[in-house]
Amino acid sequence: MKALDRWVLHCDLDAFFAAVEQLDHPELRGRPVIVGGDPESRGVVATCSYEARRYGVRSAMPLAQARRLCPHAVFLPVRRERYVQVSRQVFAILARETPVIEPVSIDEAYLEVAGDGPAVAARLRAAVRREVGLAMTVGVAHNRLVAKIACELAKPDGLKVIRPEEAEAVLAPLPVRMLPGLGPAAAARLARVGIETLGQLAAADPVLIRRLFKSRGPELQERARGRDLRPVGLQAPVRSFSEERTFPRDLPAARLLPELARLCEELGGRLRRDGYRATTITLKARFPDFTTITRSRSLPRPVADDATLFAVARELLEHHVPARQPLRLLGVAASGLVHARDPQQLSLWRDDERRLRLAAAVDRVRARYGSDAIGLAARLLGRRTAGGRATP
Ligand SMILES: [Mg+2]
Repeated sequence: MKALDRWVLHCDLDAFFAAVEQLDHPELRGRPVIVGGDPESRGVVATCSYEARRYGVRSAMPLAQARRLCPHAVFLPVRRERYVQVSRQVFAILARETPVIEPVSIDEAYLEVAGDGPAVAARLRAAVRREVGLAMTVGVAHNRLVAKIACELAKPDGLKVIRPEEAEAVLAPLPVRMLPGLGPAAAARLARVGIETLGQLAAADPVLIRRLFKSRGPELQERARGRDLRPVGLQAPVRSFSEERTFPRDLPAARLLPELARLCEELGGRLRRDGYRATTITLKARFPDFTTITRSRSLPRPVADDATLFAVARELLEHHVPARQPLRLLGVAASGLVHARDPQQLSLWRDDERRLRLAAAVDRVRARYGSDAIGLAARLLGRRTAGGRATP
């Protein structure tokens, strides 16, 4: 066995919100618990206990459907403050073992540890169980990818170690969907050429895989073999997105709003493309004398639609930049990001799905007809038709 002095641990609390509810309300232990809100509402399941999962209930499923599958479940609202409090307790325990922690979400993190990784994992699981009262599954491996897969295989309440020399063999029989980041569309494309498992993907003709996935192909095959060089911590989740423009000459006040709208549209497009929503919007303005100000506002829920980004940025502009003031530079940034594919994370805020569907429709029009074809900047500029430039 090869000696390893550096291990990656993927730590994930099991059914986190539901587990906290069962911890705080012992009478709910052993019962199907669904956190997400009133089943009469149009909301979705944020987390459900393993007892509910036996009935087919899953995260992100509409609550009404969850109730049809499991009518006797206990439905509970999301208690954000409490989950954040418990999460902090758990992260404090993780921090005892290593300073290299990369949080993925409220209940999930990658750790890099020196020394005996499997022993550290066992200690952490015991400490979280004893001091917080929750089950935490840990995957242990030599890289992030394999640690994450080990964790998936070990759930719930498990610990799995995959050593470097066994990684390729352990991954080979798994369905391709087990590869983090490989979505249903990619899996369907692979199924059409007869590739169902990671072993088949790894062994497939590179030319074929490149035809299916373009430049992503070689990396995908490396990952199917369990290879992943991304270090923990340095691959930290994106913290902010920003768009700014320096003008060739000071932009007169009358043209600031259309410019701001365009920046917000670009920012919104990037957020949506990468699946993020923002809870803080920051405006940046540089005056002709080079004085620069940044002013931020936090929002009650995560947003990624152009209209809201613009409304907030505009308010900041009108509030903090004197009327009739020309500017050298204008910028807008989005931070406090939440990933849109994490139902647990999203449920911590209330979200307006309709707005986002609208924004997605606008993105599709822009992709076809160009960025000025539709939207806020187009309206403010008084344009109705595309400028002919197609944006990728
Ligand atoms: Mg979890």
